[in-house]
Amino acid sequence: MVIMGYWIHLKRSLDQAMIHRDRCPEIPSGPFRSDFWEGGWTEFPDKDTALEALENTDASEQLKCPLCKP
Ligand SMILES: [Zn+2]
Repeated sequence: MVIMGYWIHLKRSLDQAMIHRDRCPEIPSGPFRSDFWEGGWTEFPDKDTALEALENTDASEQLKCPLCKP
C-alpha cells in the first residue's frame, strides 16, 4: 500500500504557508529543519490532516502548490 503524504511549507518571512503533495520537486531532500522564526517543512499522512493543519497555521496566506496541485 502506498501512502501519499502531504507537506506543509511554512515561510514566516513571507507570512505564507503552502501545501504540497509528496514527491513535489519543491520538497528538499532533507534533512528537514523546522525553525520557529523561519518556518520549515512538516509532513502529514493524509490530505485532510494536512489541510486542517494548513488552516491552523498563523500565516496570512494559505496556498496550494501550483506545481504538484495538491
Ligand atoms: Zn508542490
